[in-house]
Amino acid sequence: MEHFDVLVVGAGISGVGAGYHLQTQCPDKTFVILEGLESFGGTWLMHRYPGIRSDSDLYTFGYRFKPWTGAPIATAAEILDYMQEVIEENSLDQRIRYQHWIDSASWSSSEQCWTLSGTRKDTNEPINFTANFLWMCQGYYKHAEGYTPDWQGMESFRGQIVHPQTWPEGLDYRDKQVLVIGSGATTATIVPAMAGDCEHITVLQRSPTYFIPARNESELADHLRRLEIDENWIHEIVRRDILFNQEEFTRRSVEAPESVKEELLNGVKAYLPEGYDIDTHFTPRYRPWQQRLAFVPDGDIFKGIAAGKATMVTDEIEAFNETGVRLKSGRQIDTDIILTATGFNLCVLGDIDFMVDGKSVDFADTITYRGMMFTGVPNMVWIFGYFRASWTLRVDLIGDFVCRLLNHMDQSGVASVMPELRRQDRDMPISCWIDPDNFNPNYLKRSMHKLPRRGDKPEWQHTQDYWAEKTDFPLIDLEDPVFKYR
Ligand SMILES: Cc1cc2nc3c(=O)[nH]c(=O)nc-3n(C[C@H](O)[C@H](O)[C@H](O)COP(=O)(O)OP(=O)(O)OC[C@H]3O[C@@H](n4cnc5c(N)ncnc54)[C@H](O)[C@@H]3O)c2cc1C
Repeated sequence: MEHFDVLVVGAGISGVGAGYHLQTQCPDKTFVILEGLESFGGTWLMHRYPGIRSDSDLYTFGYRFKPWTGAPIATAAEILDYMQEVIEENSLDQRIRYQHWIDSASWSSSEQCWTLSGTRKDTNEPINFTANFLWMCQGYYKHAEGYTPDWQGMESFRGQIVHPQTWPEGLDYRDKQVLVIGSGATTATIVPAMAGDCEHITVLQRSPTYFIPARNESELADHLRRLEIDENWIHEIVRRDILFNQEEFTRRSVEAPESVKEELLNGVKAYLPEGYDIDTHFTPRYRPWQQRLAFVPDGDIFKGIAAGKATMVTDEIEAFNETGVRLKSGRQIDTDIILTATGFNLCVLGDIDFMVDGKSVDFADTITYRGMMFTGVPNMVWIFGYFRASWTLRVDLIGDFVCRLLNHMDQSGVASVMPELRRQDRDMPISCWIDPDNFNPNYLKRSMHKLPRRGDKPEWQHTQDYWAEKTDFPLIDLEDPVFKYR
């Protein structure tokens, strides 16, 4: 049994960021990052469908401490290269244990520590660790398989059904008819990447999505580079510029949704042929930003539609059959391959079995402290990023908070911390993790009952508001009675 001050679970963009912050802000702490896969990167390692790329700009999806020097939207391979540099430059490779899959985590108040158990994937050996503090960076969706609805007659389809999250190596789609079900960010990526090779690609959506077509370049970054400004400065200036514009956009989406909607639809219209049915295929039924916006670099998906290589169909599936799918309208779509770009299975804390003092933890019974700690669960933090801003912005903010908290605990001579409702919090209304009127993608709606609950104050919810949290987090009073130390 090895013991560490801190165990980090997961070596995706969150876990590697956690490692960097621990190393730089808590240099005396011992820690390792336990990663179930054979390498780092998480989302960017596992997703292997054609064209896989970010839909956030890398100036903000990159860490604040490591300049991004490429085009704003990056491929998975470019993101992995960037992470590799972070790992190498900071010698984090010595801290990551690959093929270490964790199944259970158990806290003992008498020992004041966590025991983590799991399996080494390469040798099948059991593994056990103890740690004072647990930093969960295992993401927010089931890594093993994506979400596929249970459609009638699926088993009768004679072609191939593939979920993009588990893309089979060497899938041959050349000169084939392909049907993509769903119209989110994955579809916006996959369609332009495949359209040139398959015979035809049809996108079937139940309802439309908002897209933001824009050029994949930053004029500001390019200009600053021409002036030979230092890359550290460019990174900071471009981040601030993007975040300033995003804040404006988010505010306007709430205050003036109709005008934002019109702007977004005009952006799409500019790429499509005169008379194209935008109302049916590209006019969503929700307010801009109630679901994640799909960024489309250089309008590439629309160019495929305009060139006749891709077709949009807005309808519902009645049933699968041998040759394809029959729609509720009565139309039949025949196809060779069906791609179910239908989203994730959200999972709470990696489906790891959590126990506190011998009692199983159901996170749906807990209330979250700022979307990162949980009532009744000591010495544990989870990184759950932003939906409307880059995930990694929160990795840096939580990184600062955790390190400040750990250093404060050392100075105060205490071994554990747990958030607890204060007297003034006890009567507050408690509701689900996020207000569905605020943000409501289907994968969240499907799994809301599994997530921790929230109160009606910023302390007791994941506000999804980077712009408030960037000011509030550094000012969190660690002596506030919300923190119960022992
Ligand atoms: C295709 C796709 C594109 C996306 N694009 C963007 C984007 O452009 N911008 C944005 O902000 N967000 C985006 N997201 C959201 C994205 O998931 C996050 O931004 C981010 O990459 C998540 O990083 P993470 O490290 O928290 O989790 P993950 O990337 O999910 O990594 C978690 C890691 O933990 C490991 N792990 C999990 N459970 C265990 C366990 N029990 N034991 C050991 N190891 C474990 C996993 O193997 C994995 O390596 C995208 C998501 C997807 C799926």
